[in-house]
Amino acid sequence: MSEVMRMSKLYAPTLKEDPADAEIASHKLMLRAGMIRKTASGVYTFLPLGYKVLSKVENIVREEMDKIGAQEIMMPALQPAELWHESGRWDDYGPELMRLVDRHDHGFCLGPTHEELITSLIRNELRSYKELPCTLYQIQVKFRDEIRPRLGLFRSREFIMKDAYSFHATQESLQETYDDMSRAYGTICDRCGLDYRPVEADGGQIGGKVTTEFMALAPAGEAELVHCTCGYAANTEAGECLARPTEYEATELKKIHTPGVRTIEELAEFLGIPESSTVKALSGKDAEGKLVVMFVPGDHELNEIKAERAVPGFELLTDEEMESFGLHKGSMGPVGLPEGARIVAARSLKGISHWVVGANEDDYHYVGAEEGRDFTVDEWADLCVVKPGDCCPDCGLPLSGSRGIEVSQVFQLGTRYSETMGATFHDEDGVEHPFIMGCYGVGVSRTVAAIVEQHNDENGIQWPFNVAPAHVCIIPLTVGDDEVQPAAEKLASEIADFGFDVVIDDRKERAGVKFADADLIGWPLQVVIGKRGLAEGNVEVKLRRTGQKKDVSLSTIAELLR
Ligand code: ATP
Ligand code: MG
Ligand code: MG
Ligand code: MG
Repeated sequence: MSEVMRMSKLYAPTLKEDPADAEIASHKLMLRAGMIRKTASGVYTFLPLGYKVLSKVENIVREEMDKIGAQEIMMPALQPAELWHESGRWDDYGPELMRLVDRHDHGFCLGPTHEELITSLIRNELRSYKELPCTLYQIQVKFRDEIRPRLGLFRSREFIMKDAYSFHATQESLQETYDDMSRAYGTICDRCGLDYRPVEADGGQIGGKVTTEFMALAPAGEAELVHCTCGYAANTEAGECLARPTEYEATELKKIHTPGVRTIEELAEFLGIPESSTVKALSGKDAEGKLVVMFVPGDHELNEIKAERAVPGFELLTDEEMESFGLHKGSMGPVGLPEGARIVAARSLKGISHWVVGANEDDYHYVGAEEGRDFTVDEWADLCVVKPGDCCPDCGLPLSGSRGIEVSQVFQLGTRYSETMGATFHDEDGVEHPFIMGCYGVGVSRTVAAIVEQHNDENGIQWPFNVAPAHVCIIPLTVGDDEVQPAAEKLASEIADFGFDVVIDDRKERAGVKFADADLIGWPLQVVIGKRGLAEGNVEVKLRRTGQKKDVSLSTIAELLR
């Protein structure tokens, strides 16, 4: 039996007007419906109703994880820096990692993800092939210092994630768990009422190769997708290296001598930085033969395709052409480019304050170059690998495009972490091997926002039944009335007895206010009890989703819900 919630006691401050800084429906409506409040940029408090929805989504996720044999744990959010040094990600992760130092001068971070922590947790204790496979998960707060925290719960700096990690002796075993997880992720989306697509994706910071993202379709989504009637679907970012150049302490442009450095790999090694945090310069000409220099994060085989995407007719310069423009192979950068060069840079580099760039001079590079101060970019480009209209790689038909919200992602990690962190098991013959690993994340708070983004109208939210803060809202038209009030109370407790979550709007407010709030908050079912209907033994039932209203006899209403 569920408890009956009372609007008179509920802390759900609703707002009549759209808040000024909220751009998209989910952000506006969750603020207006009194479900969340902003504490700081990208940091939110869940109020009682928002928290109820969050908990329901969490429980759906928990049930689906438990069903496939994953075991729930709780790791700390505070993680020692040493673990991140071991994996190499302390430098690699860049400014998104929230770093701090304790009073003893020990470095820590607030976990954006937990591969390092879990690998250190199981190493030396999970030892035998007999104990494998093993999958552990947690539902916990994550921290990422996003460049642009925006769109409410979509991209916040503190958010709730379910993250699972699996350990295996063989690739086949990993594949099995990966498939189980993928199915569970589909079920989670279904149970949350999301219209979604699994899509091919890029590993990004986590470093996996085989990976799928689950995208809730919505025009407000930040991801651009292509899909085909044959079932093929991909993130147009797939293949773009998402790493960003490391932020350097240097605040001034510093020219450094880099003897013999000609390639991105050599530069990374020379500076002792990860290759993924470097910027690759491609020099080419556009369709009219004019010089175009393109900057793309990291070194990636797909960069030339992306360059052609951004600049139609783009063609790489030959060595002789480069020389004739005064460009230096291996030490090119945006600083000191010849006059008239058009600079195009990947959008993902926007906002980076200190670039490591070539000095357009043999054997020299600059550290701490700043966009806007030392050079300007003519064009910030979305460097997609596939675009709507391209031929589907599976069937050849033209791909259609839409936008999506990445609600979850599954990865096959392989031995990326077990090898760097020395986590091994022994096989039947006692031989040691690094674990083969997988990791799987669901953005729980982002999922809540995605649900609202897909389920709303001009009056407010339309919660799908499974995740609604309460299933039924009972609205007595006259509070304190001798007949209406007791009838409403009785009905509320009857419906609650059937196991539904019920709220009763027992506030001394005008009916109009109650109706508006009920639509705004989005209870799936409203039951209106008035004096006149009651005299005939009737109440009015309204379905929030369709707006459909029906008079139903009081004696059958509870039956109806069965
Ligand atoms: P994005 O591409 O949107 O930055 P991500 O690929 O960096 O997300 P993952 O590392 O795959 O995110 O994390 C797993 C899940 O956590 C994501 O699928 C997403 O639902 C959620 N998530 C990631 N970043 C945020 C954020 N800043 N705010 C809310 N949820 C997030
Ligand atoms: Mg991210
Ligand atoms: Mg992503
Ligand atoms: Mg992801």
